[in-house]
Amino acid sequence: MRTLNLLKPDEMVDSVYEIDLQHLKKMGIRGIITDLDNTLVAWHSSEITDILTQWVQNVRAAGLKIAVVSNNSSARVQELANKLGVAYVAKAIKPRRRAFRQIAKEFQLSPDKVAVVGDQLFTDILGGNRSGMYTILVAPISKHEFIGTKIARCFERFFIKRPNKA
Ligand SMILES: [Mg+2]
Repeated sequence: MRTLNLLKPDEMVDSVYEIDLQHLKKMGIRGIITDLDNTLVAWHSSEITDILTQWVQNVRAAGLKIAVVSNNSSARVQELANKLGVAYVAKAIKPRRRAFRQIAKEFQLSPDKVAVVGDQLFTDILGGNRSGMYTILVAPISKHEFIGTKIARCFERFFIKRPNKA
């Protein structure tokens, strides 16, 4: 079923630090669109760790462009994206495609050359797949989440397990 395929990430990792950047390059990926909350930082945290700063540098050193696309408020996303020195779209309304397309245009890359990284199936992975991008699901950093996200996770568990049973 098409809907199930759209909820299936191309890759699953424990954290952004486990993403094989060289492998992405070999596949033709030239840009990364990453989620913010629970992907780069803990939910409601504004702390940019040294390891995160280093990772962004590694991404660029590997020849990949990087931007943040978040459904969170402008003030919060702007603060963190500026600290990291990356382009961003806030209030993105993922899984809508508009923000993904906007960044791909800014990157001057076709969607198939862009990877979407995030911790949620119904926003990050669904939006990335709908946009024709390569999708990478990361395990969420923090368990202290917005209640709506917690409810969504119950459904995610169903979808994550289901492909294995098929
Ligand atoms: Mg998130």
